[in-house]
Amino acid sequence: MGTSLRITRRRFLGGAVATGAAVAVLGPLGFDLEPARAEARSLHVRWQQELTSVCNFCAVGCGLVVHSENGDVVEVEGNPDSPMNAGSLCAKGSAILQEHTSPQRLTKVLYRAPYDDKWQEKDWGWALDRIAQRIKQVRDETWETTNAAGVPVNRTQAIAAFGSAVLNNEECYLLTKFDRGLGLVYMDHQARI
Ligand code: SF4
Repeated sequence: MGTSLRITRRRFLGGAVATGAAVAVLGPLGFDLEPARAEARSLHVRWQQELTSVCNFCAVGCGLVVHSENGDVVEVEGNPDSPMNAGSLCAKGSAILQEHTSPQRLTKVLYRAPYDDKWQEKDWGWALDRIAQRIKQVRDETWETTNAAGVPVNRTQAIAAFGSAVLNNEECYLLTKFDRGLGLVYMDHQARI
């Protein structure tokens, strides 16, 4: 090996220390990440109140931290304690605050009567009574006490129930109990579509 390529132990260690210091400053990718980290720290939101929730867009069910100020939702971010997403959110979940702030958000019950082409504004009391009446009517009209073989079934096949990804275990249990009590046999969940 020529003299110019020969490297002493002291020079090698000195170079290694210098390289390590550079990596520490620039990061493993060779970029100086500190300005971005400082910006991220300044953006991190901490408002008056934090509540946990679940993203309602898809069946993954990513955990959210919802920040509110004076009773109004001001920011939503991924929940780092959620085993589903560990703080990350996809593009849809990252924009979920718009569900609250969008001027296109529906805030009233809209009802369109059969064969009508116009929506009518209704209150929740009217809507819930209407749903209950329709469920009872359909259940009564389609109730089966026995099947074709004479076996007791006590069911209706005219109503189906569909669960949401934001339901937790306890809510799913209660919903299933309620559905079984109505005699429903067709139950499914958003996660399967
Ligand atoms: S953040 Fe994205 S992946 Fe997670 S539940 Fe919402 S839509 Fe699904």
